[in-house]
Amino acid sequence: MIYLDYSATTPTNNEVLNTFVEVSKKFFGNPNSLHKLGLEAKNLIDASTQQIANILGVKEKEIIYTSGATESNNAAIFGVIEKYEMRGKEIITTKLEHSSIIEPLNHLEKKGYTIKYVQLDKYGRVDLEDLKQKISNNTILVTISSINSEIGIKQDLNKIGQILEKYPKIIFHSDITQSVGKEKIDLSLVDLASFSSQKFYGLKGCGVLIKKENIELAPLIKGGKSTTKYRSGTPSPALIASTSKALRLSYEKFNEKCEKVKELNTILIDELIKIKEVEINSNKYSIPNIINISIKNIKPETMLHALEENDIYISTKTACSSNNYSDAVRILTKNDNLAKTSLRISISHLTTKEEIEEFIKILKEKISVLSLNNNTK
Ligand code: PMP
Repeated sequence: MIYLDYSATTPTNNEVLNTFVEVSKKFFGNPNSLHKLGLEAKNLIDASTQQIANILGVKEKEIIYTSGATESNNAAIFGVIEKYEMRGKEIITTKLEHSSIIEPLNHLEKKGYTIKYVQLDKYGRVDLEDLKQKISNNTILVTISSINSEIGIKQDLNKIGQILEKYPKIIFHSDITQSVGKEKIDLSLVDLASFSSQKFYGLKGCGVLIKKENIELAPLIKGGKSTTKYRSGTPSPALIASTSKALRLSYEKFNEKCEKVKELNTILIDELIKIKEVEINSNKYSIPNIINISIKNIKPETMLHALEENDIYISTKTACSSNNYSDAVRILTKNDNLAKTSLRISISHLTTKEEIEEFIKILKEKISVLSLNNNTK
């Protein structure tokens, strides 16, 4: 198997899986129980939280556990809207956000909120002057992801944060799901940040919302105190401990892993640009882990399934997108054909040079076969 879909999800690390199993067996007590078993489970959660907080440079009390980035994004958006509704009815975002941001915002638009989309430059980066222009007395929230999941474009959270710092009443949320484990993140100027463990070799079904201590949030899921009052439900020691383990492991030998991904990215791009049917949609601001391409006249689903026949796995767009084409590619390239034919290849430090070579070989074969089929139709 050649797995090139690491941005959709990552294979669970064995050590993380062992942590999950061990903790599930040994710490089955309800962390909210007052007896010894409850206390042991709670202590384990506290130790895990401390480790996560240290790695991310935030405070322990700023960590809220959720079921994943989708829930974290929803909890951030609706939590801010409800808590600070008197502050205004305008939200600023970009057209490169994940559906778990876009759909809550579409919902709020129907309820009377104004959603302003900040302009992007030709590389898909936030136009900081336009952001300044779009801010008004009515702005309550700015939500901009650190890295777009389809093309991998990285935004400068610090520069955005420096602009927003001057407006203490505006809350700055960032979906950092594609950043965690892939880059070192500076959250000093961000008020709220969402991510999912499944993207850094952790388990599916566990996520985090970071909420700075000076920010309040109306809880989306109510029903009593959990690890925080912002998200109720019995916390899972096994999921939390495995998230903490996955996070720690993902930052081990970090520079080495990053160098390897960069090297693989160069090999892949060097080969892809030689294929005349291929257009590369990723650009110099895309992280090396994500390579978005379009293949002339070949439907992405057709190519995806053709590669699958050879046990090679890539994405047509983000696994959560509901359209038949890539919004992100259309927005960036302003070209419907590229948007309709785009594919995402996402690599990791686990990817090998041999896998890239084999992928390129098979991709070329599939392009000739599928282009021939198209021409003879
Ligand atoms: N945001 C981004 C940028 C993502 O890539 C994803 C996963 N595709 C999510 C949010 C949602 O994560 P989850 O499905 O784990 O809730």
